[in-house]
Amino acid sequence: MIIILKQGITPEEKNNVRSVLKENGFIVKEIKGEQDTVLGAVGTSRIDPRMIEIMPGVSSVVPISKPYKLASRELKKDDTIVSVGKVKIGGNRIAVIAGPCAVESCDQILRIAEKVREAGAVILRGGAYKPRTSPYSFQGLGEEGLKLLRKAGDEFEMPVTTEVVSPRDVEVMKGYIDMFQIGARNMQNFELLKEVGKTGMPVLLKRGLSATIEEWLMAAEYLMASGTDQVVLCERGIRTYEKATRNTLDCSAIPVVQKLTHLPVIGDPSHATGIRDMVSPMALALVAGGASGIMVEVHDHPELALSDGPQSLYPEQFERLMRDIEALAPVVGKAVEKMPRLVPATIKDKTAENDGDASHTIAFQGERGAFSELAVRRVFSEDEKVLPCKEFKDVFDAVASGKAIYGVVPIENTLGGTVFDNYDLLKMEENITVVGEVQVRIIHNLIVNPGVSLSDIKKVYSHPQGLAQCREFLDRELPDAERIPFFDTAGAVSYLKEIGAKDAAAIAGSPAAVYNGMEILKQGIETNVRNYTRFFVISREENALMFKSRAHINRAAVTFSVQDRPGSLFQVLDILQKHGLNMKKLESRPILGKPWEYSFFVETELSDEKDLENIIPMLKENTTSFRVLGTYTAAH
Ligand code: PEP
Ligand code: MN
Repeated sequence: MIIILKQGITPEEKNNVRSVLKENGFIVKEIKGEQDTVLGAVGTSRIDPRMIEIMPGVSSVVPISKPYKLASRELKKDDTIVSVGKVKIGGNRIAVIAGPCAVESCDQILRIAEKVREAGAVILRGGAYKPRTSPYSFQGLGEEGLKLLRKAGDEFEMPVTTEVVSPRDVEVMKGYIDMFQIGARNMQNFELLKEVGKTGMPVLLKRGLSATIEEWLMAAEYLMASGTDQVVLCERGIRTYEKATRNTLDCSAIPVVQKLTHLPVIGDPSHATGIRDMVSPMALALVAGGASGIMVEVHDHPELALSDGPQSLYPEQFERLMRDIEALAPVVGKAVEKMPRLVPATIKDKTAENDGDASHTIAFQGERGAFSELAVRRVFSEDEKVLPCKEFKDVFDAVASGKAIYGVVPIENTLGGTVFDNYDLLKMEENITVVGEVQVRIIHNLIVNPGVSLSDIKKVYSHPQGLAQCREFLDRELPDAERIPFFDTAGAVSYLKEIGAKDAAAIAGSPAAVYNGMEILKQGIETNVRNYTRFFVISREENALMFKSRAHINRAAVTFSVQDRPGSLFQVLDILQKHGLNMKKLESRPILGKPWEYSFFVETELSDEKDLENIIPMLKENTTSFRVLGTYTAAH
């Protein structure tokens, strides 16, 4: 059952509730959500729920209707984010796990680890104990394989996962790996589940060959009841009458499971299809279907592989797949999980010393739940704190003064155009540089106080852009409602909550509704679905390297002004053209205090940072002022 606690419950009251439940034989878990805190009580015992309901500090008691309790969405509304080393699985991310089916030799695992890491995988896989259909097939290298997998993981700074097949191996495996994998054949090996669950470590739980979704979730429940809350589900194809593929990928399991459980679910297109050429299309189908990641087998000599060669991707195929996933991610409102960047020790120490907590604070403009906060979360992990700022200038000030280490500011919307204020601020703040770019799909929602229905709405509040981008919906569904411009979308939601409006709605992103405990009446009401905003990540010069050191730099933003004579702008652009730099954007802005004089902003492609460095002297010669605003990796 779920015990929903009152907001003002005291620690003593909470302890009392816990003790009574434990005395009655329940396992008790506390779950803090965005909205409220609940206690989950599970076990074989029974108790009259009214006994708990009357206790001080308890708001209500609700039974869990499903046979799986700890894994159920009823108990925990928010998505669980599983941490595997520094990598996170769940939420708005797509985490890619890759590596060979089995660890075969030191050389083999090191070579493949390097390749998959370079292409963007964040967790390394490789079997050391292989459950094979035939006892005469390669059974894995055992502990030696674990050692080699760990070595490769350490060398390329990737957490590692491998399959456990026997309870007696759990203890020794713990020392080598970051995540256990329970294979399809062992999904209902309950003794194994209990032993692995006891470690409290992350577990990747494959769906059994013929397991129903409920049986699969019951297996997750075994793990959780034994002591881990770090479970990732993995759809890997099920047995059907179809023989054209090794198994039948059940893509629909992804959205089904997401409704039933808070645990992240990923997909394994390699074992699902068993055929190399089908792995990438099905990987994309899984991502499009909402999977939180994929696990793929990669081998540089699959024809020599000791297991699963025919379904292993060549490294080049994997690289191409990663690029496709990058391109697809924003369409489903997600970002590909990247490796934590390597932080040069000297910079890290300096930041920690000077800024203390600020080194974990990211500034954005708007209120909690704003689209800018979504952009922050695409780039930075949940562990980083956010600093909401009233104006764009406040974001720049927070970064310049060291109150925040990075800031995230919108620069352009596909429907609304350029956000000039931020170009101007970038130009003025000499010590601030652009270090990254991120793109967020803008999905608008009609948000109201709980209980308000469409026919109650007389007024609609939002940022003017929000109102404009949803005009068709408003004209059609709410033609008589007054449209009231507000300074920001999330701000409109918190305002309606504050005044308890029963006759008004706000247009904003879904996080603003979740954050404020408001109701989404209609989802996705924007006129044009291809509605994206591009944001820049900004930092002080001295922190730029820390953000960028691992990324592939392929874009530059520069600003300059030129003399008022024929061809002066052309000369600058000619330099870019002659050096093969593809210009992506050109803007002109009036120079403050100099009527009818302009400065220009250019964003250009780079194949290497040196492309720009080499031509800076030439650009300076042909301009009256010139500054590099930053170099970064372009968002897809
Ligand atoms: C594997 O991942 O190599 C494996 C054996 O997978 P499954 O348990 O899904 O067959
Ligand atoms: Mn395999």
